[in-house]
Amino acid sequence: MVKQECAPYSRKRFLLGEMPKILVFDIETTLLRAYIWDCGEQVIRHGQLVEGYDQFNIICICYSWLHEKKIYTLSYDLVTQDPSAMIKEFDKVVAQADIIVGKNSRKFDIKMINTVRMARGLKPFPNWAVNNSDLESQFRKHFRLPSQSLDYVAKMLRVGLKGKMELYDWIAIQNYNIDPVEGLKAFKKMLKYCRNDVMITKEGLIKSFPYIISDINFAEYCSKVKEVKQGKKKVKVVTPACKACGTRNVIKNGTRVRGRIPNQKVYQRLQCEFGHYAGEIEENEFGQFVGNIK
Ligand SMILES: [Zn+2]
Repeated sequence: MVKQECAPYSRKRFLLGEMPKILVFDIETTLLRAYIWDCGEQVIRHGQLVEGYDQFNIICICYSWLHEKKIYTLSYDLVTQDPSAMIKEFDKVVAQADIIVGKNSRKFDIKMINTVRMARGLKPFPNWAVNNSDLESQFRKHFRLPSQSLDYVAKMLRVGLKGKMELYDWIAIQNYNIDPVEGLKAFKKMLKYCRNDVMITKEGLIKSFPYIISDINFAEYCSKVKEVKQGKKKVKVVTPACKACGTRNVIKNGTRVRGRIPNQKVYQRLQCEFGHYAGEIEENEFGQFVGNIK
């Protein structure tokens, strides 16, 4: 039954319900500005930040569904630099996702969006990113690379090159009201750059899936439950999916007894078509799978 050692991501598997709805995203943020006395290595205190440029803002959010090719772009208002409408719009997108994934998104993007939300008094959404994975943390856990930069990952996996932005581009975007021509040029360049990062993150995710045990528990999204009548009772019977990759093509692979007498339970261990340990699940007296896959 074991066809191969890895579980590829494919649109076909998504349509079969063997993949959660995964949203890949990236954001670009504004620069801060500070008063300094001199160049060279130094610590800049928050008191040195220039009023009006002393808080982070989000220029754009680009995203794509893993099962689609298209990359979508949302951006702040270039004139007012107000990100509110963009964040509200992205909230609607995130609400449709089972999992959201970015590169270094746990440390950067997710916190940045939440910070801007609070600082600007936008509608709170504390459970916005409860189900998330982070390409960088997954790469650090499973691979040894000379560099964890997205640029390096793109080269290694031959999925294109990371674009190049200059410091001047960020300045030009924030100075749009002073020089709209240069501002718009830099803004368009940044949107393209952000979309490209989403593409690389997506490819990195797809290419790494077969080599890692993801922190996404695919069984939670891909198992199927149906109610079956047994005499007068109704029982919830589970068609389990593999924890590691989501396929429902699993076979029994031994049992484990857990708990103490008299509350001992027998758990059926499962293996998937790709050779993963797929998790374990309780069986009832009729040999049906019940309960949650662990
Ligand atoms: Zn599997």
